[in-house]
Amino acid sequence: MAHSYWKPKQLRITRGESSIRHYSDCDTQSGNTIIRSFCSNCGASLFVKAAKGDFIIAQASAIEGHQNWTPKKEVFGENRATWLKEIAFTSKKKAKL
Ligand SMILES: [Zn+2]
Repeated sequence: MAHSYWKPKQLRITRGESSIRHYSDCDTQSGNTIIRSFCSNCGASLFVKAAKGDFIIAQASAIEGHQNWTPKKEVFGENRATWLKEIAFTSKKKAKL
């Protein structure tokens, strides 16, 4: 699954904002609480935000123009599907969500 990292001021919701719901998830690898956002109509996961963080992780497919991006970093590579190849510049650093 592809995600992208943003500062809150970089994101603008262009449609469907009234359908977005949020919940707190404290069952994370780091023990830090994150806020997960999803579409209440179809259940699609949209955003993740650290409760004490200053960035938002968005599902790439939720961002206009994502088809033209190239990956710059991989996190949770240990969870990569076996049929996917490792990205050449893969960081071995573990995510801390
Ligand atoms: Zn939806």
